[in-house]
Amino acid sequence: MKVMKFGGTSVGKPHRMQEVAKLISKDAEPKIVVLSALSGTTNALVEISQSLSKGDRNAAREQIDALELHYRQFIKDLLKQPQSLERAGAIIAEHFEFLTIILKISFSEALNKDILAQGELLSTKIFCVYLDEAGLDHVLLPALDFMTIDGYDEPQIGTIKVKLAQLLQKHKDKNIFITQGYISRNARGEVDNLKRGGSDYSASLIAAAINASVCEIWTDIDGMHNNDPRVVEKTVPIDQLSFEEAAELAYFGAKILHPASIWPAQYYNVPVRLLNTLFPEAKGTLITEKAGSVGVKAVAAKDGITAIKIKSSRMLLAYGFLRKVFEVFEKYRTSIDMITTSEVAVSVTIDNDIYLTEITKELEVFGTVEIDTNQTIVSIVGNEITETKDIMQKLFESIAVVPVRMISYGGSRHNISLLIARNDKEQTLQLLNKGLFRL
Ligand code: ADP
Ligand code: ASP
Ligand code: MG
Repeated sequence: MKVMKFGGTSVGKPHRMQEVAKLISKDAEPKIVVLSALSGTTNALVEISQSLSKGDRNAAREQIDALELHYRQFIKDLLKQPQSLERAGAIIAEHFEFLTIILKISFSEALNKDILAQGELLSTKIFCVYLDEAGLDHVLLPALDFMTIDGYDEPQIGTIKVKLAQLLQKHKDKNIFITQGYISRNARGEVDNLKRGGSDYSASLIAAAINASVCEIWTDIDGMHNNDPRVVEKTVPIDQLSFEEAAELAYFGAKILHPASIWPAQYYNVPVRLLNTLFPEAKGTLITEKAGSVGVKAVAAKDGITAIKIKSSRMLLAYGFLRKVFEVFEKYRTSIDMITTSEVAVSVTIDNDIYLTEITKELEVFGTVEIDTNQTIVSIVGNEITETKDIMQKLFESIAVVPVRMISYGGSRHNISLLIARNDKEQTLQLLNKGLFRL
């Protein structure tokens, strides 16, 4: 059994959704098909939620109406038969009625999660109507019946495995299963999600839970590229990556994969294939445990980073100092990405500044604290990269004009990370493309 995940652009236009139906019926292997919301929908739902949280019901009303109109037009172009149109119309009515009802309810975080879940619920249900029209036998497996996260927002593979097996057991004669990416149920039993871009994570978790033959991530580009194609003009796809390399790239900002989406596949050793719905014949990128060639494979950038420097003359030769610093971050469940130390100071970076004020206050007990916001981590990733000859020379020659705030080398053999100002990101990625890839 395999997993095929289709992202927002892959289902975002009626003809694209029809292409997806063709792709999932190409071979006879049983499959779980994971769908995202239609492109633009989750962003629209975020806006609706924001309007509601500000108490601006008129704006929310307008945004809901505009989104409903989009779906009404979508099904008209997707479906031919009157009874299919009627069914899809009823699905749209049901979900937009829900959004209308929430206009009257006071806003809460739980309600926000309910709003955000509407996109994947709509896309999968509408897709199933199309599959019926196209005569493709299938079953809809509601993700909220098996995709669970615990009190720390961590997915529980053991539970997912048991629940999914029970659901699949009920439909032994079926070959095509459709489910929602992104959405989950939390420890309180409420609707929740796996964070933005989370459908990749859903796919990988499902692939791990059913021990799939492969986890295919179908998107709008022919695999993982050597650099961010949104920023750099000339980028090229990478044929093969190890789980470690892919995990580093995903975590450090390659948007094609959700930051946490590699570990489940890696842990259960399920190969991941990145494929292009717009060009299905393209080879894409294969991610397995096998370390491909040695050397630089790709660079990625992660924005929204805050650097924190703690300066303390008392730190000099003081053992236990770092433990105390780390304990502050642990207390506020804020993970550290990069760290550098000197005799009198330690600098760390975080990507989540919700508790920055509290953290700063507690760190001030140890010394002077300096904060730099709007930073970007640029990661250079490749198998055994730190063993690669001349890598540091090439790296610094390429970006000689860019001020580097921090550097992390040797923490992993597959990654060298630099911290730069967000404003220098575009130039840095472009210079690295020339200097490291000759592109
Ligand atoms: P989906 O909606 O299918 O999940 P995403 O928009 O989340 O698609 O991810 C695909 C996009 O990721 C590409 O269109 C591309 O612009 C962007 N991207 C960023 N970095 C990379 C990279 N290194 N390789 C490929 N795509 C990348
Ligand atoms: N629809 C969700 C988002 O836009 C999840 C996903 O597309 O992966 O973030
Ligand atoms: Mg995505």
